[in-house]
Amino acid sequence: MKEILFFSNNKNKVFEIKKIFKKNKVKLLSLSDVNIDDQPIENGKTFEENAKIKSDYGFNKAGIPCFADDSGICIESLNWKPGISSKRFLNKFRSKDECFKYIMKSVKVNCKKKAYFKTSISLTINNSKNIIFNGKLDGKISDKKKGGSGFGYDPIFIPNSYEKTLAEISVNEKNKISHRSIAVTKLINFLFS
Ligand code: IMP
Repeated sequence: MKEILFFSNNKNKVFEIKKIFKKNKVKLLSLSDVNIDDQPIENGKTFEENAKIKSDYGFNKAGIPCFADDSGICIESLNWKPGISSKRFLNKFRSKDECFKYIMKSVKVNCKKKAYFKTSISLTINNSKNIIFNGKLDGKISDKKKGGSGFGYDPIFIPNSYEKTLAEISVNEKNKISHRSIAVTKLINFLFS
């Protein structure tokens, strides 16, 4: 494999992944490198299905191996939702704070604190070969929102064996344990070992 496409519009993710690939022989291309400016409809029911919809789409459009990721948070007190709808769920509220309050209230009412983040990466190598790499970070919902770093649900998520939320720890420390880094490490090991 000489070139691989990362199907993502998230500039931070592309930047992060490009840094990892620089150390290796495979050239990482982004959507702008192959002039793809549209997206497939993500109508899968799981993280795996949505990641595969994107990596298959990229492979079919660009004709080179392509990978894509899909992530989110699953919360026990919300029947393990919002999952694949994590972004939409957060945007439904007038503010992040309102969303966090809603989640923390459901945790209190149901006495269920558990939560996890999950990332699925799908790699489409050709029409008949697709591989999924998963990463999961288990933890609980915090009683209060805490911390200023990170993004999304980080201020209300405490990883197991930690006392701080993901927004209270450094990005470097988060990257050592995160669902995304677990899945990316599996992909890198597959590609380069
Ligand atoms: P994406 O598929 O990586 O874009 O993630 C979808 C949504 O899940 C994001 O918009 C966030 O709301 C949430 N999410 C995913 N990963 C994280 C994380 O590491 N911290 C906080 N929120 C996350």
